[in-house]
Amino acid sequence: VSDPTALWISKRISDARARLGWTQAELAAQLHRTQTAVSYWESGKRKPGLDDVIDLARVLDRDVGYFLPPGRTRQPIAAVLRAELARLGSGDLEQAVDAVLSRTETAEIPEPTIRVGARQPTHAANELLERAKISAPPVPVDELVALCGVFLCQIELPDALSGMIVELDAGPVIAVNANHAPTRQRFSMAHELGHHLLQHTDRFHLDVQDGSPFGFDYAVERAANDFAADLLMPRRFVTHAFESTQQTGQLAEIFDVSEIAMGYRILNLGLR
Ligand SMILES: [Zn+2]
Repeated sequence: VSDPTALWISKRISDARARLGWTQAELAAQLHRTQTAVSYWESGKRKPGLDDVIDLARVLDRDVGYFLPPGRTRQPIAAVLRAELARLGSGDLEQAVDAVLSRTETAEIPEPTIRVGARQPTHAANELLERAKISAPPVPVDELVALCGVFLCQIELPDALSGMIVELDAGPVIAVNANHAPTRQRFSMAHELGHHLLQHTDRFHLDVQDGSPFGFDYAVERAANDFAADLLMPRRFVTHAFESTQQTGQLAEIFDVSEIAMGYRILNLGLR
């Protein structure tokens, strides 16, 4: 009856439960499942589904990987992401993420040649620019993404999805919506790179208009946007360029950003 995976998982569940000093009934209550279900899992008679494993990980305060036998799943994060999207029943997003994941399966994820230590948006952006020796606009954000050891995937996505970062076991992947204007894609790349360098997630983050299905954290989004603005339109570059032209449209062209982004930046820097 018992296959090796079920036995492995059964041991992990009972170990994690015992460490918390819970009975099977207490664990079942936390999961909103019957005690019988938990008892079947722990005896190896039944294997919990991926959704159950995700719930177990949350309730028992473990990583999903803790429950998975070594070497069984090549990309647990990808599997988890797919499972969570399937559970949300968002067909569009599921397809989009699937496309990104299959594109990355054979991808060579670059080794990072630059490591950024700063965890504050402006400091992190400036550190990256300095280490990459970028001294004038436009900032080559796609090259910076690669230097940070992130695989970049420009791919057609549903309009509401501007970008995502997935921290795969093989390495981090940023996807941006190839249907969007090039300037917007550049901003999305910088925004997602911000999520990565500022360590906003150890799994994945989707940037969907009107909020991510996995919850919207205002402070985190703001930090990623600040990083993007500081990276694409560094204060000293803008101040310098502003001496030759004060026209938002011209400045936007120099920095290869949208006029709206440039306009905000000029206001935020107090130049106008
Ligand atoms: Zn975001």
